[in-house]
Amino acid sequence: MLCLRCGYILDGVNTKKCPECGRPFDPHFDRTFRRPGARHRLVIVIAVTSCGVAVGTIGGLLLSMFLASLVFHEAGQGII
Ligand SMILES: [Zn+2]
Repeated sequence: MLCLRCGYILDGVNTKKCPECGRPFDPHFDRTFRRPGARHRLVIVIAVTSCGVAVGTIGGLLLSMFLASLVFHEAGQGII
């Protein structure tokens, strides 16, 4: 478990206060400290979401370019 304020590692700390910044915490009440990896999961969620958005954007762009090339191709044939 980590300090909510400063991120100090509270595992093995005998007092109920962060030795680094003095913020009180309760090992039995998980809203008073942060679990390691919680930020990691958030980063992964953000990364996956932004990857999905990027793939969607690129896919949409390629699709619109493909459709535009079809339209222009047919328009070119029409002129000639
Ligand atoms: Zn702290």
